[in-house]
Amino acid sequence: MANTLTQENIAQQIERLEYRNLAFIDGQFVPARSGKTFATLNPATGEVITQLAACDAEDVDIAAKAARRAFEAGVWSKMAPAERKAIMQRFADLIEENCLELAVLEAIEAGKPISECFNVDIPDTANTIRWHAEAIDKLNDAVTPTESSVLSIVTREPIGVVGAVLPWNFPAMMVGWKLGPALATGNSVILKPAKLTSLSTTRLAELAFEAGVPAGVLNVLPGMGSTAGKAIGMHPDIDLVGFTGSTEVGRMFLEYSAASNLKEVLLECGGKNPQVVMPDIHDIKTVASNVLAAAFWNMGENCSAGSRLIVHRSIKDALLKEVLAQLESDWKLGDPLDPEVNLGALVEEAHMEKVLSYIATAKKEGLTLLTGGERVRKESGGYFVQPTIFDDATPESTIVREEIFGPVLAVMAFDTEEEAIALANDTCYGLAASLWSNDLNTVHRMSSAIRAGTVTVNCFGEGDITTPFGGFKQSGFGGRDKSIYAHDQYCELKTTWIKLT
Ligand code: NAP
Ligand code: MG
Repeated sequence: MANTLTQENIAQQIERLEYRNLAFIDGQFVPARSGKTFATLNPATGEVITQLAACDAEDVDIAAKAARRAFEAGVWSKMAPAERKAIMQRFADLIEENCLELAVLEAIEAGKPISECFNVDIPDTANTIRWHAEAIDKLNDAVTPTESSVLSIVTREPIGVVGAVLPWNFPAMMVGWKLGPALATGNSVILKPAKLTSLSTTRLAELAFEAGVPAGVLNVLPGMGSTAGKAIGMHPDIDLVGFTGSTEVGRMFLEYSAASNLKEVLLECGGKNPQVVMPDIHDIKTVASNVLAAAFWNMGENCSAGSRLIVHRSIKDALLKEVLAQLESDWKLGDPLDPEVNLGALVEEAHMEKVLSYIATAKKEGLTLLTGGERVRKESGGYFVQPTIFDDATPESTIVREEIFGPVLAVMAFDTEEEAIALANDTCYGLAASLWSNDLNTVHRMSSAIRAGTVTVNCFGEGDITTPFGGFKQSGFGGRDKSIYAHDQYCELKTTWIKLT
């Protein structure tokens, strides 16, 4: 079966690959109007995979007009909810049927381990689309309590044309997180993938169309952030932008909105997430394996990566010993297309250089390097960095303050609970946190004191599709991804106040 992960199936899939390298606008693949293209690379080899259409403001305008036309025509926005649900469910089915192809595309373009793409990212994308689809015909609107001479109805209406500007670390999953609620609520969408990772997204557009999403309702435009991304932010006829990426670029979308049509802006941005380990833990092996997953899953290219380990001084040495042992035995770095590998390549050379410069800074600042710290597999032409752990970090250390978005963990010790909370909260971010304790009171006190959108207790993760995901402080703005809460964000609320006579 093609949908199992074996070396042979992966090799056959690579043989069969066809790249969708054009923009998908109004139900068709088209080149950029300018005719320009740009190269996308395989970060595990440094080689060019293919050339992609380089869309810019002109293409965004064409897509916005198609999206508006589809919206006004009501082909999706006014479709019977059960029908819209069936099409999105079919879309989810098609994602599952093409799981191996999508997983290979993500692995070769982003350097992500194929087993993660195949077992986590693509199934999660399908599940997210299906979950939001299933909600479509289960959400009721409201009649509010008024005097008997009035009928007051509050309805949710799709907001209209939605822009989505996305990052490269979880390309398909982020498409699911934005498209799921935006399409479920009846909007038209214009989506710009990160320039480093467009190929799974253009294929997803084709699958959505095949499932029955009408022309103009979903448009995918590969291109640069500074051209296509900015054009989406500035467009006068886009009603909302959902953005996932860095805090720095997120800030620009607020400026674009202010300078254009006051479009709504939803921002999911960076993180510098604490993992707090209290002295009463029972099972140090489980804690260590989660600490490693939090720090190094997806090579640490993860907004909710637990990149600051804040551990009680009495158990620090024992925990670090176990962490280092498991890192050695359980974490294999290598070719992202090898199903046994769980640490692939960093996404591009410039990003690898940035990660290595943080490692150099940590050494210069006198932190203790426990493991890693080097570029490896250089002969492959790819951008691989060892998982790296620094001890003796302080609240002032650069790698404690700044998001690295790579496989670098900083360790700090504490003596009191108050100190642990202060360290955990000493950041401009507030996306996620994990807490380890077996004391019920400690868990409640501390999880309430930690300022983060998601606090996981005695595990690392992000909840599931039923839970909202997003950040406090400079990690987010305007809303949440996932869960039923996301639906409201892609809707306007309308009051209809009827005076009865
Ligand atoms: P990024 O540089 O902010 O890019 C995100 C998107 O914005 C890309 O599509 C990018 O285009 C575009 N962009 C760049 N400059 C722009 C501009 N001037 N105007 C409009 N759009 C512009 O982020 P990234 O490097 O792809 O991803 C890493 C960041 O994403 C990290 O900070 C991470 O924490 C964050 N992240 C957050 C979440 C979350 O849910 N909170 C999830 C994943 C990632 P290009 O293709 O040209 O780069
Ligand atoms: Mg970037």
